[in-house]
Amino acid sequence: MNLPIDPESIKGFLREDEGACLYRHAAEAACRGVCLEVGTYCGRSATYIGTACQAAGGVLFAVDHHRGSEENQPGWPWHDAELWDDEAGALDSLPSLRKTLRRAGLEDTVLPVIGRSSIISRVWRTPLSFVFIDGGHTMEHALNDYRGWVPHLIPDGVLAIHDVFPNPADGGRPPFEIYKLALRSGLFEEVEAVASLRVLRRISPG
Ligand code: SAH
Ligand code: MG
Repeated sequence: MNLPIDPESIKGFLREDEGACLYRHAAEAACRGVCLEVGTYCGRSATYIGTACQAAGGVLFAVDHHRGSEENQPGWPWHDAELWDDEAGALDSLPSLRKTLRRAGLEDTVLPVIGRSSIISRVWRTPLSFVFIDGGHTMEHALNDYRGWVPHLIPDGVLAIHDVFPNPADGGRPPFEIYKLALRSGLFEEVEAVASLRVLRRISPG
């Protein structure tokens, strides 16, 4: 894996070993179809996945409303005042993402889709070979992401989920809950686990 820029220079919440794991699975999946992530923020995961897509001649759609999750709002531990847009009176991580994509030379590979994940998944029509869920952490958002994007995955497609914490003391439940739903559905088998990242593969029928 050869990243064009230092991932630690991008604001974000993904560990290096998790990024490397995403890179490996995206490199394979990008040869079989289009990749998509939910929750892009300033583009750290998009740089790992996008670099893999670029090498394979594929693309990554990067879905985010760029207004931040609950835990990114003022007063929360993961709030970053540098991303505040005074005029909007809201967080705006899009300018930072654009800088990342330009610096990384990924503007023709990582295609930002700006809006709420549940609206975009509802009208989405392109089959996906790779979906990475790293968006809102409430049960509502996690369930919407799972239910909204899984139907777009092709057989053998990869479903990766971040912030899966089997032990409640380590973090919130919703990503773990949709991970369990995926396994219980019989549609997926687990292929890899790195830190809080889980990688599942959609079982092909027959
Ligand atoms: N993958 C990033 C971190 C994502 S943080 C990294 O590697 O660093 C979570 C992101 O999800 C935030 O940017 C937030 O704006 C976005 N988000 C939360 N709920 C969302 C929703 N319902 N639709 C679209 N984006 C959402
Ligand atoms: Mg995360």
